Amino acid sequence: MGLPSLPFTTTLTSTSCVLTRKVVGRRGACAMAPVAATTAVIRTARKGMCEVIRALWLAASNYTQRLNHPRAYILCGTLTPMGLFGGIEAGGTKFVCGVGTGPEDLQTVRIPTTTPEATVEAAAAFFRERAADGLAAVGIASFGPVDLDPDSPTFGHITSTPKLAWQNFDLAGSVGKALGVPVGFDTDVNGAALGEARWGAARGLADSLYLTVGTGIGGGAIVHGRVLHGLMHPEMGHIRIPHDLAADPYPGCCPYHGDCLEGLASGPAIEARWGGPAQDLGPAHPAWDLEARYLALALTAWVCTLSPRRIVVGGGVMDQPQLFPKIRLELARLLNGYIRKRELTEGLDSYVVPPQLGGRAGVLGALVLAEQALGA
Ligand code: ADP
Ligand code: ZN
Repeated sequence: MGLPSLPFTTTLTSTSCVLTRKVVGRRGACAMAPVAATTAVIRTARKGMCEVIRALWLAASNYTQRLNHPRAYILCGTLTPMGLFGGIEAGGTKFVCGVGTGPEDLQTVRIPTTTPEATVEAAAAFFRERAADGLAAVGIASFGPVDLDPDSPTFGHITSTPKLAWQNFDLAGSVGKALGVPVGFDTDVNGAALGEARWGAARGLADSLYLTVGTGIGGGAIVHGRVLHGLMHPEMGHIRIPHDLAADPYPGCCPYHGDCLEGLASGPAIEARWGGPAQDLGPAHPAWDLEARYLALALTAWVCTLSPRRIVVGGGVMDQPQLFPKIRLELARLLNGYIRKRELTEGLDSYVVPPQLGGRAGVLGALVLAEQALGA
C-alpha cells in the first residue's frame, strides 16, 4: 500500500524554508499556500539542517494540531533542498530576467536583446550574481515561433523568426549550458498565462485562459494547472470568426488568413480599419463595439471548447477599459443562456477580467516553468 498523499511541501533555500500545503478549492482548483502566515517561513541562514528540520516540524505540527490532522503525515513529508528559481521573459527587444519565489521578492533586470550569444551571457551573468548560492532551475517564456516538442531534436529552439540572428537558435540549450541547471521552456504568452494563473487574476483556478490583444493576438490555456500543448501550442489568434463584410468591409491584415481573429481585431487591424492608432480613437468611437463583438465571438469559441473557469484579457488594446463591459455583454448574448453556470450568467464581471501582474506576468510565469522543469 502506498503512503497517503502528502499535504505538505517544503521549499528549502539557503535563506529560508517555506512550508506549504496543497489547497483544493470547492471547484477542484489546486494551489499551494503557506500553512500559516507567521510560522510557514523559516529563516535558514546560519542554521544547521537539524535546527531547520526542528523548526519545520514545529510549524507543521502546530498546523496539523489546529486541523486535527494525524501528525504522522509530517513524518512522511519530503524536504527538498533547492536553490532559487530563475525566470526569463525572452522578448524580441528585451530579456526580463528575474529570481525569487513570487511577486513579493522577485528581483528583475532588463537586458536588451542583441546577438543570441551576448544576450544569453548577460542573462547568465545576472543569475550567477543573484543566485550565488545556487540556482535550481530556470524557466524561459520566449518570443517565437519556438519548438516546444520535447521529442524534437530542435526542442527549445527559436525557429523561423524574422530576427535573422535568432533563427534556429537553441535558446533553452544555451541557457541550460551556461548555468548548468534544468530549463523549462514555453512561449511568452503561455508564460504570462501561467503567471496570471499562479499569482494574478486567475489565481487559485486550475483552468483558465489568458489572451493578449496587442500587435498580435495570442492566447494560453491552463488546463489542470498546466499549460495546454498539443501538436505544438495553440495559435488562438488565428481562429476564424464570422466576418460580416457588409458591416465591416475591412479585409483583415493577417498575412496568412486575412480576416482571422488577429487579422480583424489586433491593434494594427484597428489602426488600418479606422485610419489611426487604436490609442487615439476616443472611448465612444464605434471601433470598440466592433472590437468587443470580435473578441466575444472568439471567447465564445473558447468557452465552448476549453471551458475555462476564468478568462484574463490583456495587451495594449485592452487599455480601453470600456471594452470589458461590452465584451461581457456580447459574450452573454452569444452564449444565450446555454451554459448554465453562475460564472457565465450572473458572474461575468469576474469571469472576463483584466490581468493583475502587468508587465511581470511573463517573468513570473517563467519562474513557474522553472519549478515545473524541476518537477517541484
Ligand atoms: P505587443 O503586442 O507588441 O507586445 P502591446 O500589447 O502594447 O504590445 O500592443 C501594442 C498594440 O496595442 C498597438 O497596436 C497599439 O496601437 C495598441 N495600443 C496600445 N495602447 C493602446 C490603448 N491605450 N488603447 C488601444 N490600443 C492601444
Ligand atoms: Zn491569421
